[in-house]
Amino acid sequence: MNYVSTRDKSVKVTAAEAIAKGISDEGGLFVPESFPRFTAEDFENLKNLDYIGRAKYVLKYFLGDFTDEEIDYCVKGAYSGSFDGDMPAPISLVGKEMNILELWHGPTCAFKDLALQLLPYLLTTSAKKTASGKKTVILVATSGDTGKAALEGFKDVPDTEIMVFYPSEGVSPMQKLQMDSQKGGNVHVCAIKGNFDDAQTGVKKIFTDSAVKEKLAEHNMQFSSANSINWGRLAPQIVYYVSAYCDLLSRGEDLSAGFNVVVPTGNFGNILAAYYAEKMGVPVSRLICASNANNVLTDFIRTGTYNKNRDFYTTISPSMDILISSNLERMLFELSGCDDKTVAALQADLSSKGVFTVSDSVKKRLSELFWGGSCDDAETLATIGGMFREYGYLCDTHTAVAVGVYKKYREETGDTKPVVIASTASPYKFADSVLSAVTDKKTDSEFDNVRLLSEVTSTEIPAPIKALENAEVRFKELCDKDKMLDAVYAALEIK
Ligand SMILES: *Cc1c(COP(=O)(O)O)cnc(C)c1O
Repeated sequence: MNYVSTRDKSVKVTAAEAIAKGISDEGGLFVPESFPRFTAEDFENLKNLDYIGRAKYVLKYFLGDFTDEEIDYCVKGAYSGSFDGDMPAPISLVGKEMNILELWHGPTCAFKDLALQLLPYLLTTSAKKTASGKKTVILVATSGDTGKAALEGFKDVPDTEIMVFYPSEGVSPMQKLQMDSQKGGNVHVCAIKGNFDDAQTGVKKIFTDSAVKEKLAEHNMQFSSANSINWGRLAPQIVYYVSAYCDLLSRGEDLSAGFNVVVPTGNFGNILAAYYAEKMGVPVSRLICASNANNVLTDFIRTGTYNKNRDFYTTISPSMDILISSNLERMLFELSGCDDKTVAALQADLSSKGVFTVSDSVKKRLSELFWGGSCDDAETLATIGGMFREYGYLCDTHTAVAVGVYKKYREETGDTKPVVIASTASPYKFADSVLSAVTDKKTDSEFDNVRLLSEVTSTEIPAPIKALENAEVRFKELCDKDKMLDAVYAALEIK
């Protein structure tokens, strides 16, 4: 199976090329030319496999130029031993009907681990096929979760170096500590004086500078990207929606009318994976897109106009504080019937004017597939408190946005189909906010609050969070935003 660019269908590459390149030269994103359609027999087979088996079964279709041995090596490397009890995506049934798909049992306690544990294997295998012998240098700009998950994924992976830039004032203390204490011989972390946009702009500039590219080539190195526009991050996410369906089938749920999926959304990667799973035969009825106060997607789904010219809010669910959802481009390609010209025109409108409007037919399809809703911080905290008091279930701020929006969906539509709610982070990653939702007690110390949260709720502190308290801080560098390239050269020991 080959991949085409969303902005020019005549650009055609293999899976390895799509993953190694990350993005197409004219700026489009790579999408599969076709999708497999699973039958009842496929799902019967999948039901009887463990997560690793299910991942291999699904990914095989998307990695056309990988051998079975390579897929086996990649998937086992990613998912054996790095998730609690080797269950990367367990479901907790909360109340009578909420199936909470917990995607935060990996090494960094956020759902990005599901993709970023696998991506290094996919990327190094792809690089071997497409760029023989070159060392891959991963550059990441992060607002928190992606940086840590990428560091954990690429740590000590042969033939790779990874460098993460984060805004010194733009990440939570826990996220900062997670990154500054990162272990591994090939990892580099640097705080910059500036905000996330400065970090992102700096990384993009380094990426696209041809002189820098040449210099790296002289040292037998090449850049690649670990951010969520890389197909290698999207494909692993399809697996857990297929797996969740299998788990519901195994439990004997009546899914004849389909089920709904609720996803707390930022860059639109996770919910897009749920859509792809639907395309492959998982009977998803409605995709419910949950946003925080930055509700640009809610408005888009309801009106057909995407407008990023609006106030930006800093919320207690920071991983969803986003006004440009980059993976929406892949959805527009689907909704427009794979019309690359339309996608290119909409994206041109977005970058020149910050706004675009889709046609009536796209809008109609959009509103059949999706339902959009949002929760502000007060509603999010009330939802965490309510979930804990009513069901004894503790959820993080991002998951709470999804639960809150699901409640609104039920009230507005009366739809009572079974539901899967994606839970994207451990509550301990955002302990201060979660604590304030369940008790008035509070201390001034991050780790005392973590312990307090555990005492008050009788839940366990995840081991990776516990280990942070005494972790040695390895990275203390703070660099000017216009000195990022120097930091990269220093880390790679090239001049
Ligand atoms: C990244 C992230 C999201 C948003 O996911 P997208 O795929 O970007 O829509 C939601 N919750 C958490 C905890 C995240 O880290």
